This record gives sequence, structure tokens and C-alpha cells, in this order.
Amino acid sequence: MGKHGREKLYVQPREWYGEHDVDLRLGTRVTELDPAAREIVLAGGQRIGYSRLLLATGSSPRRLSVPGADLGGVLYLRYVGDSDRIKAAFENAARVAVIGAGWIGLETAAAARAAGAEVTVLEMAELPLLRVLGREVAEVFARLHEQNGVDLRCGVQVAEITAGGQGTAGGVRLADGTQIDADVVIAGIGITPNVELAAAAGLAVDNGVVTDERLRTSDPDVFAAGDVANAFHPLLGKHIRVEHWANARHQPVAAAKAMLGQDASYDRVPYFYTDQYDLGMEYAGYVEPGGYEQVVFRGDVPGREFIAFWLGDDGRVLAGMNVNVWDVNDTIQDLVRGGQTMDPSRLADLAVPLDQLTGD
Ligand SMILES: Cc1cc2nc3c(=O)[nH]c(=O)nc-3n(C[C@H](O)[C@H](O)[C@H](O)COP(=O)(O)OP(=O)(O)OC[C@H]3O[C@@H](n4cnc5c(N)ncnc54)[C@H](O)[C@@H]3O)c2cc1C
Repeated sequence: MGKHGREKLYVQPREWYGEHDVDLRLGTRVTELDPAAREIVLAGGQRIGYSRLLLATGSSPRRLSVPGADLGGVLYLRYVGDSDRIKAAFENAARVAVIGAGWIGLETAAAARAAGAEVTVLEMAELPLLRVLGREVAEVFARLHEQNGVDLRCGVQVAEITAGGQGTAGGVRLADGTQIDADVVIAGIGITPNVELAAAAGLAVDNGVVTDERLRTSDPDVFAAGDVANAFHPLLGKHIRVEHWANARHQPVAAAKAMLGQDASYDRVPYFYTDQYDLGMEYAGYVEPGGYEQVVFRGDVPGREFIAFWLGDDGRVLAGMNVNVWDVNDTIQDLVRGGQTMDPSRLADLAVPLDQLTGD
């Protein structure tokens, strides 16, 4: 967070749109989708027709609902402006409380530590990222933050954001009465897909806008991609909604082909990355919470230079994560895609080159 140049945030530079005959209208809210007329309605009432439409409305941060949540100094992270506000707040904050130890919360905690603040992270689950990674790898992230000076408190319930001076937050009170003083409170408690347009138009919505593998919604002329889409994934044989950059970058390519009547479906192995302190990692694959049999580590876990593989009960590689080990993620994706039963001892054995691992 905040480490990269602003131009890197954008998928295309501003000039790209005009150069490619794309009519980019910023500051324009779509308020209604009228599938019967094949039109969208803008906030000013203007109607625009379409023959095919892509919904890429993304998602919004879930808001705290505890008393005090509307105090100044309670911040969320989604837009560039949020990042600017948080960066400015870190400049004057000695103590930062982060609610939620998911990816956003942990990356924010790392940024706050880099800015020199004392950081407390509050998480209701037993470990950070427990649902996504499972206990074995969640422990790695817990140790990472603790060793970097974060006061990580898991298994806690936030009861209230307490007031400091001048209508701003002064800390967090937990359900057991513990008070954590903070100059800034940042909530990273998940996101909800922006399905309002689709739902009001009568499209199928279930944890996002439901699509088939061609990213087509229940209306044949309307497609959806990115954080908002709950798309059927042919490799996994189920619908998944992915809240990661690579998915938002690549799904629209398949959607655009399908919108133009080409034979396209989206079957890339889900992928994401994170950088926190000295840990950089890439993850490929998909595991339901609790949906694996064992985790096999290959390399140096305490030294944070390893690959973790999640295996199913049939011995297949469901997902892999390379931590401070590079140029291996394509091979991990091949293993996930290959769907073969693997011998865990060979997966763990550094003497067996990764690209020579094949199924039994
Ligand atoms: C701080 C942060 C850090 C992240 N870090 C990582 C990371 O390290 N790795 C990773 O893989 N992923 C990361 N992600 C996730 C990744 O950025 C998202 O998955 C991706 O941006 C989703 O893209 P999207 O286009 O689907 O949605 P969005 O980026 O949410 O874009 C949706 C756009 O639609 C607009 N919109 C919505 N409704 C309307 C409407 N009615 N009318 C007009 N416009 C509308 C919104 O204003 C928005 O601009 C991060 C996200 C955040 C917020």
C-alpha cells in the first residue's frame, strides 16, 4: 500500500481510451439497468442503448455497525482517496488499530508499521486469514506480523469505537471490556459485491452476479466480470467469486470475446499475490474453507522461503503458495490444472525439481 507510483494503479493510461475509440465517461453513475429495452439509465436520466453490456461494478468495503463507527478517524481502504487519507493519518498517528486480519487489514498493518506507528490488529477468528489459508499457513502470517512488532489479538469481538477528542475515534473497546487506545482506526472487514443494478433488473444474484463460464448472466445480453461476478469455473466445476486483481484483469478479456460471439470461456487458475514486510508471495488455486486434507511444505518455513501445497483427500494439488521463492508459480498452476494424485513426500523433497513432479 502506498509504495507504488500512482500511474501503476491504472490498467490503462488516460490517453489509451481515446486512442482506441473508447468513450470513457468518468464521474458518471449508472442508476438503472433496463434489460427489456436494452438500455442503461444515468444519474441525470439519460438513457444509453446497448446490444451487449458488461457489468464490472466491483465491490464495496463492508462497514462496521458497532456504536461509534461513524466517528471521524475510522477509515476504510478501497479507493485512491482512501489510501491518501490513510497515508496522511499515519503521518500523525502514534497508535493505529486495525480491525480485521484479512489481506487488506494485514497489508495496512504492515504499512502502518513501516510508517513507525504502534499497531494493534483485532481479529475475531483464531488466526489471521484462517478461512482462506487454513491453520498451517495462517500461522505463518501470524508469526510474520508478531515478529514485525504488531500486537495481534485474535478471537476478539469489537464492541464499540470509543471517542477521543473533537468527534474523532480514540480507540476500540472489545466485548470483554478491554480498551485499545488508537489515534486512527482502520476497518478491513471484507467487501460486498455491488450487485444493486443487476438485482433491481431481475438478474440472477447469489453472492455476486451469477454467470456461466462465458461470463454471461441470466440475461443473454448482459455479462459480468471481476469482483462482482460469481462465475461458473469449468476447471473447478462450481461457481466462484474471486476478489483479486488477476481475475479482474483477465476475466474481461474472455467476457469481451464472448460478447462478440466468439467461443470463449474463463478457466484460468485463480491467482493472487501480496507483499508484507520482507514476505512476498503468490498463490494459485482454490480451496474452500476447510476443504483440504493436508498442507505440504517444501523449503524453509521459519525462514519464510518455501512453497506450501494444499492437497485434497484424493491427493490432488488444490492450491499452492510460493513465499519468497520466485518463477515457480506457472509450475504450481500446472500442478493444480493437471489434477493428478501427488506423492506428498516428493512434493516436499527439494531434491526433486518442481518441474519434474508428476502424478503417481
Ligand atoms: C487496497 C487494496 C489492495 C488490494 N491488493 C490486492 C493484491 O495485493 N492482490 C490482488 O490480487 N488483489 C488486490 N486487491 C483486489 C483488487 O484490487 C480487486 O479485486 C480489483 O480491483 C477488482 O476490480 P473490479 O474492476 O472488479 O472492481 P473495482 O476495482 O471495484 O471497480 C469497479 C468500478 O465500478 C464503478 N462503479 C460501481 N458501480 C457503478 C455504477 N452504478 N455506475 C458507474 N460506475 C460504477 C466503481 O466506482 C469502480 O470504479 C486489492 C484491493 C484493494 C482495495
